[in-house]
Amino acid sequence: MKPPPFTYHRPTDVAQAVATLGEVGARGKVLAGGQSLVPLMSMRLAEPAHLVDIGRLPGLDTVEVTSRQVRVGALVRHADLERHEEAHAANPVLRQALRHVAHPTIRNRGTSVGSLCHADAAAEMPAVLALLGGHVVAVSTAGEREVPVDELYVGPLETSLRPDEVVTAAAFPVPEGCVGTSVVEVARRQGDYAVCGVVALVRLAEDGSLDEARAAYVSVADVPPVLDLTEAVRGISPDGDWAPAGEAAKERLECDGDIHVSAQYRHHLVGVLTERALREAATRAEAG
Ligand SMILES: Cc1cc2nc3c(=O)[nH]c(=O)nc-3n(C[C@H](O)[C@H](O)[C@H](O)COP(=O)(O)OP(=O)(O)OC[C@H]3O[C@@H](n4cnc5c(N)ncnc54)[C@H](O)[C@@H]3O)c2cc1C
Repeated sequence: MKPPPFTYHRPTDVAQAVATLGEVGARGKVLAGGQSLVPLMSMRLAEPAHLVDIGRLPGLDTVEVTSRQVRVGALVRHADLERHEEAHAANPVLRQALRHVAHPTIRNRGTSVGSLCHADAAAEMPAVLALLGGHVVAVSTAGEREVPVDELYVGPLETSLRPDEVVTAAAFPVPEGCVGTSVVEVARRQGDYAVCGVVALVRLAEDGSLDEARAAYVSVADVPPVLDLTEAVRGISPDGDWAPAGEAAKERLECDGDIHVSAQYRHHLVGVLTERALREAATRAEAG
């Protein structure tokens, strides 16, 4: 199918982009890599009258790494971030998650910030941002603001971003201390959206004991839930029994079924994948 007619805008700086978005209001949409928006338009599930292509905006294609955060510009492709060695060294969960995002061809075009803005509960990067407690930077003609992840996601494919805002960057905080992370998921085919996924983080205290165990979930709820599972596995060693964390996650998360899997199977995956992801994260934390 073809998309409905629209007016195409190609601003050359952020000021022009937000001015256009301000003029067209809710009839406009930002176009980044187009890997989610264009299929939606072709299926006529989205019908923006104006597309504001941010592909030519200068200065948005960089990844900046400090000891505190990895800041990802709005035009950084999934593949660029996945291959960014400095970002990987600072925050390995980024590459761990990006390897599960679609296929290489889609990762070559799709942007990580676009994925955060698209707010698909089946996408990996929103769960990563939620687990790390990051934020996005949104710009409009009214100025710039930081939107923390717990205020960003409000429903399925729905964020608190205003129609006149462009997100220029996302900040993924670098976890402090002796930390390991892991991303595990089940998809029906390699590259498909996961039917269930877990992004896990384990922090060890100086004496090697467990300090913190947290997990964020993909394809489980309308917005990515984050669970603190530390109490369920207090005192455990990395090669110990992580099943209580899986059970605790199952108690706290309800699942729905869909055309791909039953609610019961997805709920089963929550338990199994939580256990698996936390054990792997703990092993990585111990290895340093
Ligand atoms: C076959 C297929 C399989 C896929 N599988 C997965 C998968 O397994 N996991 C996964 O996470 N993703 C998957 N994706 C989606 C892919 O990751 C997209 O690249 C991503 O969701 C959107 O990035 P984009 O740059 O293409 O954004 P676009 O498609 O251009 O935009 C998506 C939405 O975000 C908004 N937006 C984008 N950038 C900004 C910005 N800077 N400021 C404000 N709003 C903005 C747009 O207006 C639009 O509403 C898949 C896509 C396809 C086609």
